[in-house]
Amino acid sequence: MSAEPHLPELGADPSREYRLGIMGGTFDPIHYGHLVTAEQAREALALDLVLFMPAGVPAFKQGAGVTDAEDRYAMTLLATAANPAFDASRFEIDREGVTYTIDTLRALRAHYPDNVRLFFITGADAILDLLTWHDAASMAELATFIAATRPGYDIEQARARVSASNVPFDVRYIEIPALAISSTNIRERVSAGKSARYLTSESVIGYIRKNGLYNSRIVERVDGAASPDRR
Ligand code: NAP
Repeated sequence: MSAEPHLPELGADPSREYRLGIMGGTFDPIHYGHLVTAEQAREALALDLVLFMPAGVPAFKQGAGVTDAEDRYAMTLLATAANPAFDASRFEIDREGVTYTIDTLRALRAHYPDNVRLFFITGADAILDLLTWHDAASMAELATFIAATRPGYDIEQARARVSASNVPFDVRYIEIPALAISSTNIRERVSAGKSARYLTSESVIGYIRKNGLYNSRIVERVDGAASPDRR
């Protein structure tokens, strides 16, 4: 990683607070559920900007066959390009070693002035394990957490688990119906030669096909015939 990775400018006016959302995820691939989550978090918490940050080597997925970070970053860039309040960041993929959120939060805290407040946004299932993340106590001091849930998700149980700890995490929950979409489901669909259309952007689908991600070029039907290149 270069000494000073590119980060968007924020915090120039000392008389006001700026709110930076950090959208953390593996994004393998990014989909409309992620984009709706970021947009609704931006609106609900008056965020000035949401920085999509694909994890380089996700802490809980080491050796788990995650797609190359450059591909995940490229898809994130394509999917977020049209929204001026979104940005995609290489911050975590350029950092060597396992991606720990605490390292990211510390680096952002050191980079931005005190009038920039940090909000870390991710899926509620990931947030549920917050206490097991590296240096959880320090994370609680550095950011407010936004946990995106699917309809029917048991928020009370999640709340109880987080508050049962002695760590004073500030976690906000937002329900996102579009989170019925999942990266796993998209990978499985593409791999089976099924359509992923309307689950993510056309640009991301095009990238997946062009680069043969998720076995999209080598799909064969059980009778041995090549399946059509459906989207
Ligand atoms: P995950 O376990 O793959 O995801 C858990 C659930 O949350 C899945 O249903 C996932 O759906 C969803 N999800 C993930 N990111 C989301 C987002 N930004 N918005 C909405 N839903 C999201 O989680 P992960 O991707 O490995 O990790 C999520 C974030 O937490 C990353 O930034 C990671 O670095 C951080 N994390 C840090 C530590 C640590 O510091 N020790 C440990 C774990 C995670 P999809 O599969 O459809 O995305």
